[in-house]
Amino acid sequence: MSYFIDVILPLPLDKRFTYSVEKQEAEYLKRGMRVAVPFGKSKTYTGVVADIHQNPPDVYEAKPISQILDDNPLITNYQLKFWKWIADYYMCTEGEVLRAALPGAFLLESENIVQLLKKSGPEEYELTDEEYMVVEALQRQSSLKIKEVNQVLEKKKVLPVLNSLVEKNIVALNQEIYEQYKPKKIRFVRLSSEFSGEAAMHKLLDELEKAPKQREIILSFFSLKAQSTKPVKVKTLLKKSNSSASVLKSLLDKGFLEEYYLETDRMSYSGNTAEASLSFSDHQEHALTEIRSHFQKNEVCLLHGITSSGKTEIYIRLIQDVLEKGKQALYLLPEIALTTQLIQRLQNYFGEQVLIYHSKYSMNERVEVYRHVLKEDKKGRVVIGARSAIFLPFSRLGLIVVDEEHEGTFKQFDPAPRYHARDAAVVLANFFKSNIILGSATPSLESYFNAKHNKYALVELNRRYGNVLLPEIEIVDIKVKHKKKLMKGHFSDRLLEEIKAALKEEEQVILFQNRRGFSPILECNTCGHSPQCPNCDVSLTFHHHNNQLRCHYCGYHIAMQQKCMACGSPDITTKGFGTEQIETELKSLFPDHKTGRMDQDTTRGKYGYEKIINAFEQQEIDIMVGTQMLTKGLDFRHVSLVGIMNADNLLNFPDFRAHERSFQLMLQVAGRAGRTKKRGKVLIQSYNPYHQIIQQVSTNDYSGMYKDQLEERHNYKYPPYYRLIRFTLKSRDFSKTNDASEWLAKSLGNIFKENILGPEFPPVARIRNEYYKNILLKIPQQQSLGKTKTVVHKIMSSFRAIGTFRSVKVVINVDPV
Ligand code: ADP
Ligand code: ZN
Ligand code: ZN
Repeated sequence: MSYFIDVILPLPLDKRFTYSVEKQEAEYLKRGMRVAVPFGKSKTYTGVVADIHQNPPDVYEAKPISQILDDNPLITNYQLKFWKWIADYYMCTEGEVLRAALPGAFLLESENIVQLLKKSGPEEYELTDEEYMVVEALQRQSSLKIKEVNQVLEKKKVLPVLNSLVEKNIVALNQEIYEQYKPKKIRFVRLSSEFSGEAAMHKLLDELEKAPKQREIILSFFSLKAQSTKPVKVKTLLKKSNSSASVLKSLLDKGFLEEYYLETDRMSYSGNTAEASLSFSDHQEHALTEIRSHFQKNEVCLLHGITSSGKTEIYIRLIQDVLEKGKQALYLLPEIALTTQLIQRLQNYFGEQVLIYHSKYSMNERVEVYRHVLKEDKKGRVVIGARSAIFLPFSRLGLIVVDEEHEGTFKQFDPAPRYHARDAAVVLANFFKSNIILGSATPSLESYFNAKHNKYALVELNRRYGNVLLPEIEIVDIKVKHKKKLMKGHFSDRLLEEIKAALKEEEQVILFQNRRGFSPILECNTCGHSPQCPNCDVSLTFHHHNNQLRCHYCGYHIAMQQKCMACGSPDITTKGFGTEQIETELKSLFPDHKTGRMDQDTTRGKYGYEKIINAFEQQEIDIMVGTQMLTKGLDFRHVSLVGIMNADNLLNFPDFRAHERSFQLMLQVAGRAGRTKKRGKVLIQSYNPYHQIIQQVSTNDYSGMYKDQLEERHNYKYPPYYRLIRFTLKSRDFSKTNDASEWLAKSLGNIFKENILGPEFPPVARIRNEYYKNILLKIPQQQSLGKTKTVVHKIMSSFRAIGTFRSVKVVINVDPV
């Protein structure tokens, strides 16, 4: 009898590969274990066992595996089923899903490079002889290729040894950079609560009659408190009272003053008690009851709750519900930026049960999280994660929360699998019969449509927590302001007035501009030339801080030009503006205030977000300029004013979702204002103040927007009425891209007729010297999705059989956003 296993390899292969195994191996192996297998002439890959059987493959001779890598399955049956669903639905291969689903460290392969993680000597670990030899070799030489490890150990099968070293956290793969950053902790002081009343305060001062230095500190403290509601920093207090740390220490020792760190103390600082759960408003309570009853009936729930209505607190209750049942909860967020704040909030409730999983984590950290979830130990009952967290090895999933469900970033763009984490999460929840809630202040048309058509249950929450009113929205017509010469740079007189007023009240300001850099176009006033990227069809963006012209698509950059590159004229102007320019203008308009910027350029590195968000929370920054990164779900307590610098470039974006998106973005960023106490204010600057969408934003008219946009979608055959599959063809050869797209569009058109659009060049038709062309397939509701995909697969294999098109890549994107 011979035995075989089908293995999923982390490669874009259409099929699973069959390998032969010994009888004992077949008995030992289980689905979901990893095996190292030879592939091609000389490569070794880590694959996952998907099946164990006795049927030899028809067309090739099965090779034996090199090694079994696990004692127990690392991948659950749920995962294997889920991978298959993703591959089928999003028209990619299981191997591509595998690569996205497992942390890279689980997929050792012959091309890897290994490095030592810790600098200490091998004697400090408990190592096998072979592990010891590898560690020793790595101390002499900073990195080793797998081939070199072969030589060190004088054998071929080294992956198990390396695997074990990775697990023990001793070596890392592929040069990961480890950043050491501890969020900055700032010391603050406050008066002990027993001295808070007026009488107690006088008593305190009397008591300090004989300690003039200490008395001075207390007096300075009161004077600082009288000037400002900001928390008092130790540094400021010492400076103000001209005293030393030792005098302050006596006050702390006596218990008159208390020191604290704002960062770790956020919740209690705001007056909330961290441990005890909050008492819900009637509206929250009502929403929670509704959600629970929908959950009982196993319905997908859409929570449409305005910004700051207390949705997050509701999610926390729901998580508590499932933890009490001994199940796991997954909290999905669209952006890593959001996790910073959420982690603190969730940890306040659930302590170390909360784990975080996202792409800025190193491979080894991700491996750890994966293991915790797999083992179902106490850590990892609650996972907060970006989209890839749907791939974790849950076994008792009880709840999925999809926060900010309308966000396009839930969709993976590149590489395959191009999955939408929200939609995939609905499927995943169904596998587990677990509950799922999608939440947003501005639901996607698709989800709201599903709710309106009874596919999802709808729960609405229309009141802000604490009955704070939604911010007042004012639209500023900058065409008029320009005419009347009431603009300073990109700021209207109204915006400047409001910024000044907010700063005077010691409140914070957020300014939103959806472009980074200084200005996106540089133009010669003499001949009209503007510098373009040589590799892409876009203008170069001017970045002031390093005096560069940069391509945002491929990273190409050159020094800023003093003269026109075409005609030599020195008369050059910049057109359009990005966050950097706003920040520069702010610095000269408000030299006495601290400004900050949050965009892709300032948030690099694992803790990039934390640094900036913490600084803003701690009121070290008064005015923050940012791109859409800043708009999403963040909860700042002292922001009273939000300015949208220019609404028009959002609205003019060439995409059928542009209007929906603009609405969402503007309403979300507006929602950052006035979240806790008094009503906030939002100013929208626009050349087009009567635009329908801007009007709808200003009246918070979600249903109006929904109705209008739905009608457009219906008329132009777009989601949610039609499903879309987009084909993007690209190659370095312009005419081949054209020919191939013509061929494909024609073949698809033969079958799908008028439901094929294109081929068409996208707005940026060349990136990194590849030419792009799109074809869109629209699928009416009554047309079978399965059959459609079968036809597409057939046409694609005919396409791939054409020799001259071999160099043309086709990217298939199901449900593109
Ligand atoms: P959303 O997620 O809807 O934007 P949040 O859950 O962030 O709203 O709530 C907005 C603010 O109100 C937060 O600062 C939160 O701590 C506070 N909050 C919400 N519900 C309560 C409650 N029941 N008691 C006290 N504070 C609450
Ligand atoms: Zn010129
Ligand atoms: Zn470029």
